[in-house]
Amino acid sequence: MLRQRRFEEENYHAIFNNGKTLRFAIDPSKPILPLRYPEIEDWAINTICLANCSWCYVSALKTGINFDNVVEKIQDYFGIISLNHRPTQIAIGGAGEPTMHPDFPEILKTTYDLQIMPNYTTNAMHLSDRVVDATIKYSGGAAISCHPHLKKVWTKGINILTEAGINTCLHIILGEPGSNDEFWRIYDSTKNIHYYVVLPYQAAGRAKKIDAEKEWDLFFKEALIRKPDDVSFGALFYDYFLRNRDIMAKLNMSQRCFRDTVFLMILINCLENQAMTYHQNLMIKHYEQFSSRRQSIFFKFI
Ligand code: SF4
Repeated sequence: MLRQRRFEEENYHAIFNNGKTLRFAIDPSKPILPLRYPEIEDWAINTICLANCSWCYVSALKTGINFDNVVEKIQDYFGIISLNHRPTQIAIGGAGEPTMHPDFPEILKTTYDLQIMPNYTTNAMHLSDRVVDATIKYSGGAAISCHPHLKKVWTKGINILTEAGINTCLHIILGEPGSNDEFWRIYDSTKNIHYYVVLPYQAAGRAKKIDAEKEWDLFFKEALIRKPDDVSFGALFYDYFLRNRDIMAKLNMSQRCFRDTVFLMILINCLENQAMTYHQNLMIKHYEQFSSRRQSIFFKFI
């Protein structure tokens, strides 16, 4: 999928090509301003999930629901706005397990037909042939959440998706005691993963408040030794990074770290075409600028 978006007022021009976005300032002497129409959106199509994670920040339940008429709602809302104003990519998840929605394949197709690249997060419990086929045809990729109590499930899910040639990311939540060790265990024992996405534990929904930063500190200590080039970080690490700028600088976070992981709403907006040439401080400045307003909208198709 090839798209271009241009907003003169925001000094912004972007070219999106199959998951990668290059951004340019129309007037290079001025910054790109926060966009009113973001490149990436989060969509929620249901609130049901059978995984029963005690740390679920959206409190998804097996008694949750699938929203009605999502295909029509997508067509009604996005079909009437100009292509320039439509996002280039969306991430489906965010409130429930998206693959449990009976219209999930049709939702992927409808979104793709509107020239919006759909991606999604899944617990891998329901990767049917129908879901996998639609993912191959219409999706930019999928991220599997590696919840410890579902290890067998996500291990099988990784095989299904990677063998189908699907861009597969892994989401690993960092914060509970032992989660740093678990991250590196997963990192060292899996292959053909597009990106390992480290997500900071959030005390929201069912998740109790814990001291998550101990594990974050351990993680970044190890990351500074290993310097992996296929690990990305969730947008909610933003405040942590601002308090620990040396980590960003030492990790040389750059194009490879942030490039096209669709699930990181904020971080990816700062870089790609710029990171390789800009000094770290300038990069952080851009990061702050873009992060001051989240470049993401959360749609619930209720
Ligand atoms: S898999 Fe995700 S949505 Fe489902 S209960 Fe666990 S954290 Fe919540």
